[in-house]
Amino acid sequence: MPELPEVETVRRVLHERYRGRTITAVAVGKPTFYRAPPLAAIRALTGGVIAGFRRRGKYLLADLEGRGCVVFHLGMSGRLTVGEESPHVRFQFWVGEEAVRFHDARRFGRVGCALPQLGPEPMDAAFDADYLRGVLRGRSASVKALLMDQRLVAGLGNIYASEALHRARVRPARAGKSLSRTETAALADACREVLRQGVELGGATLDDESFLDPLGRPGRMQERVKVYGRAACGTCGGPLRDTRRPIGGRSSLHCPACQR
Ligand SMILES: [Zn+2]
Repeated sequence: MPELPEVETVRRVLHERYRGRTITAVAVGKPTFYRAPPLAAIRALTGGVIAGFRRRGKYLLADLEGRGCVVFHLGMSGRLTVGEESPHVRFQFWVGEEAVRFHDARRFGRVGCALPQLGPEPMDAAFDADYLRGVLRGRSASVKALLMDQRLVAGLGNIYASEALHRARVRPARAGKSLSRTETAALADACREVLRQGVELGGATLDDESFLDPLGRPGRMQERVKVYGRAACGTCGGPLRDTRRPIGGRSSLHCPACQR
């Protein structure tokens, strides 16, 4: 699933390219998403002038002059592209001659959805070791599940949560409340650091998800990944292990030698 750095990468391309431009037409594909975009979103976009694109957590927001904003969520594997055809175009809008297309084979994406309540992002001033300590304190849920709960911390999914835990040398299945003060501080730093690096490198393009930016360019964060989707630990070279039970329905690779 596209996480904060991938959505930010998409945002930067669209913002740069379309800020101040007018959306000339909108079309909803068939079959559409599980839930079609609401009429209000279609109306706001059609003929709207793009004031800019913002991001909140993993959500992309198109601000339209005098018409509020329309929220996009890429779902599990959705892509926004400039041009580019596929059998999975669910939604598209035109800016002049250019079509911006929302491709979504798995149909979990949304256009015009409500922005849910989201916690602070690790790069926000509100997110620090004290905040994270408050999130983990007294919680018997796994630290990884807590990191991926968007109401508590916005922006981390499986890739970046796995990598942050590796860098902080903490195993994903540990109960939130079991982390020491030092581990919590290291984890807060690691969350900030992996996301910052992910944004700087234009997101992660892994074999299974194959993230590409709207112009079809891959990211480079996968070169820095130490555990996610790997066979051996990128830090010590040892074998990786998965958790006994999946966390949030997903695998949680970690290194039993590097992480405690
Ligand atoms: Zn290791």
